[in-house]
Amino acid sequence: MALTPEQEAEIEALRASPRPTLRAVSEGMEAHMYRAHPVLDHGFVRVIDYMGDDAAICQAARVSYGKGTKSVSNDEGLIRYLMRHWHSTPFEMCEVKFHVKLPIFVARQWIRHRTANVNEYSARYSILDREFYIPRPEHLAAQSTANAQGRGEVLEGEEAERVLEILKSDAARAYEHYEEMLSQEGGRKGLARELARMNLPANIYTQWYWKIDLHNLLHFLRLRADSHAQYEIRAYAEVICGIVRDWVPLAWAAFEDYRLGGATLSARALDCLRRMLAGETVTEESSGMSKGEWREFRALFPGQG
Ligand SMILES: Cc1cc2nc3c(=O)[nH]c(=O)nc-3n(C[C@H](O)[C@H](O)[C@H](O)COP(=O)(O)OP(=O)(O)OC[C@H]3O[C@@H](n4cnc5c(N)ncnc54)[C@H](O)[C@@H]3O)c2cc1C
Repeated sequence: MALTPEQEAEIEALRASPRPTLRAVSEGMEAHMYRAHPVLDHGFVRVIDYMGDDAAICQAARVSYGKGTKSVSNDEGLIRYLMRHWHSTPFEMCEVKFHVKLPIFVARQWIRHRTANVNEYSARYSILDREFYIPRPEHLAAQSTANAQGRGEVLEGEEAERVLEILKSDAARAYEHYEEMLSQEGGRKGLARELARMNLPANIYTQWYWKIDLHNLLHFLRLRADSHAQYEIRAYAEVICGIVRDWVPLAWAAFEDYRLGGATLSARALDCLRRMLAGETVTEESSGMSKGEWREFRALFPGQG
């Protein structure tokens, strides 16, 4: 994993000087503080700071419900109730700040999540490192025939070798030209960094600080830790899932149950389910659903009829 020696020294210095605090701390999250989790070939995710824990979610909810929370007096029950009823603002009381190193094409997908605060490495100000994401052979797959937005079978043999060679040599050539354009050797002026970066490929790595509240982070994870998300962003989302599990175990368990593991049914799907439970044989034709809806509905009950 490509932490620079300066970053490693900074992390070590911070880990070596813990400070006492009166704030709520999550023991699980403390273990992640200033630890870089490797992702892909040169990337990482590390927790820089956080605020709140499971208790903070309940504390905020109890402000709004007052005595009404007596019926759900334990934290686990209250958090499950909030998640089940989409009562989202108590989850916004928890925040987390990550340092992420990621390829630019992953960053383009990630930045679409507008509900975070971002500060990115400036390639106008600094020179980008010679680090490019090169997929491992098992992730080098052909265009999917079933899904226009996905991958199918893994490439093999000569084709796979040739693709890898193109990826590596194009990256190397682009970086050499980048350095050449920036160079001030031999009395040259050197092209400005903000322009020289133009022809670098989208698999070069960038870095950012990314701060988000728990509600919006869970929304991000629901979309990006999902099998429909591209493998490369999913790899980051899955690491973050592990961090959230340790940070707010009760909220994570409720999220896993209601969102990741749960399903939303349309009125038509619900009607079909009721008819099926009553013994009727419902088919795609009699369901009133489109082909795609029916396929997704049936996938919820594999092996049933
Ligand atoms: C599998 C997958 C495929 C995708 N394919 C494409 C694609 O082909 N092309 C493409 O362009 N994008 C694509 N996206 C991106 C997707 O459309 C969303 O832009 C992205 O997932 C961010 O979701 P979001 O807007 O809900 O998140 P956030 O920006 O974090 O917003 C969270 C929620 O806040 C609210 N919100 C935030 N900002 C606003 C606002 N300005 N106005 C109104 N409400 C707001 C919305 O309710 C939103 O759901 C894809 C995403 C996934 C997961």
